[in-house]
Amino acid sequence: MNDSSPTQPSPFTQSPPELGNQYRDDPLLGGWLSRTLPPAVLRDLEPELDELGATAGGPLYRLQLADRRNEPRLVQWDAWGNRTDLVEVTPLWREAERLTLRHGLVATAYQRELGRWARIAQFAKVYLFHPSSDVYTCPLAMTDGAARSLLESGDRALIDRAVPHLTSRDAATFWTSGQWMTETTGGSDVARSRTTAVRDGGRWRLYGRKWFTSAVTAQMALTLARPEGNPPGGRGLAMFYLELRDQDGRLNGLRVDRLKDKLGTRKVPTAELTLEGARAELVGQPMNGTRAIEPMLAVTRMWNSICAISFMRRGLALARSYAARREAFGKPLADQPLHADTLAALEAETWGAFLMTFLLIELHGRQEAAEIDDGQRALLRLLTPLTKLATGKQAVAVTSEVVEAFGGAGYVEDTGLPQLLRDTQVLPIWEGTTNVLSLDALLRSDLHAGMAALMGRVSACVRGLEEPRLAAAGRQAVGAVERAALWLQSSHERDVLQASARRLALTIARALQLALLCEHAQWLLKRSDDRRGFAAALRFSRLPVDLMHESDPELDRVLLGPVPGEAGRHSPRGGQKS
Ligand SMILES: Cc1cc2nc3c(=O)[nH]c(=O)nc-3n(C[C@H](O)[C@H](O)[C@H](O)COP(=O)(O)OP(=O)(O)OC[C@H]3O[C@@H](n4cnc5c(N)ncnc54)[C@H](O)[C@@H]3O)c2cc1C
Repeated sequence: MNDSSPTQPSPFTQSPPELGNQYRDDPLLGGWLSRTLPPAVLRDLEPELDELGATAGGPLYRLQLADRRNEPRLVQWDAWGNRTDLVEVTPLWREAERLTLRHGLVATAYQRELGRWARIAQFAKVYLFHPSSDVYTCPLAMTDGAARSLLESGDRALIDRAVPHLTSRDAATFWTSGQWMTETTGGSDVARSRTTAVRDGGRWRLYGRKWFTSAVTAQMALTLARPEGNPPGGRGLAMFYLELRDQDGRLNGLRVDRLKDKLGTRKVPTAELTLEGARAELVGQPMNGTRAIEPMLAVTRMWNSICAISFMRRGLALARSYAARREAFGKPLADQPLHADTLAALEAETWGAFLMTFLLIELHGRQEAAEIDDGQRALLRLLTPLTKLATGKQAVAVTSEVVEAFGGAGYVEDTGLPQLLRDTQVLPIWEGTTNVLSLDALLRSDLHAGMAALMGRVSACVRGLEEPRLAAAGRQAVGAVERAALWLQSSHERDVLQASARRLALTIARALQLALLCEHAQWLLKRSDDRRGFAAALRFSRLPVDLMHESDPELDRVLLGPVPGEAGRHSPRGGQKS
């Protein structure tokens, strides 16, 4: 060894972010639950939340990182040439099923003794579980939605047959459900569906192709098909119940063609299916299936919203932990004013999205317990699409920024951060895209009642504000929602109305979030002089809330149209004039 050579410094290694108990570390969840739930309900629920918080931030999170490269596998044939179409899921998914049953992640919603608190109890657990579950929540959402749809169908035989399985806490009897709507002709415009239903004695046989069927490991599915002779369009579709396999495990007249190769949710086996005479039961009338399946969508959109806020919370938990450990320019990132400013904006978004989502959940619980008035019902109908679309967008923005908050490490697969962003990116797409839900929310016939109820809720939030800066932020929320309502009341050309729908929907959602933030902040100040809510509300009020601006569909068409004089170049004949 050459004594004159400089000593090599030992290489620096960065300590990774750490997650603690995800329940104890989340004062927003704890605070909101203690503000909302009767003390006895919270007392009974809390030990389970504490256990789930520890699991999700500890062993399940570690298993998720270790399981990163595993993906589901479709085994189409057995050694003897029999078609099997079995899907092997990942080890984490098997653990996720065990936890689902232990904590009743679907079953809790159907625990009658919890009354109108059942949905809050269920979703507080799901909120903790979801980000460590590799989106096992996808089949759970559809399972929950199927149970609700069957219960609302009133079909006693099908309810007795399937609902006890869907709401079971026992691995031997538990079933999950699929929701097969999307076909190659469209997922937004399902009225174009081409699957047909043919009578076969007292039952039906289905023929067609379903283009996206998530978690094809399910035992049953609710699907749409057009009974022979029915007219085209949504009214001509009917809702059907089918089981995927018979008692011996043989497929029920269907084929799993392949699993999709997706950007994210890669642990979720999403399949393309061919129905070749699958035996099915009609649920309800042999038409109006798009209406019959609405309870399913109301539930799955609520799950989508909870998954959005829970991904946002997970991203922030990781980013905040990292900011305390990572140093740059002489101090931890957390002490760099601009990094703190960046994370504070993400926190404010997360708080707003959280409060809106739990309002939706609270209203849903009231409806199922038949403790809801007309105004609350109208608000629930409007909030279902609004919350899904707003939180989906917020979640993608937040997790994208979280990735950047880690610098280069955020772009590296084995930190788990790219997966967080990729999995989040599905939330604005499935269960209705942002545009389609904006139109759904704002072009519906009962919009007037929904807006009146929403404005009433915003005013109620603002009425009790004593802190002057909160009161000013509250007035900002009222102003934004009033301007949106006024815009809706004035007459607009249909194109302008449609072109503005997303901006309008997001404005209404953000105004409500700001009002809810102010209300919660005032409560926190009064209860314990806790200024976190105040900080979140003020920060949110400085972010864009009113997103409305003039729409000019004609000018947009110019922008998107062909380059003047060059239109011919893009013609199939290469622009050659004959
Ligand atoms: C991972 C994954 C899993 C899925 N699992 C399932 C499943 O289990 N079951 C199931 O049924 N489906 C499933 N889907 C399908 C999903 O619900 C659809 O992809 C979605 O509803 C959009 O439908 P589409 O893909 O046909 O897009 P399209 O309907 O073709 O829409 C394309 C674009 O056009 C926009 N658009 C459409 N109409 C309008 C309009 N009138 N005005 C303005 N913009 C418009 C949309 O917003 C979108 O941006 C899954 C999708 C993914 C990605």
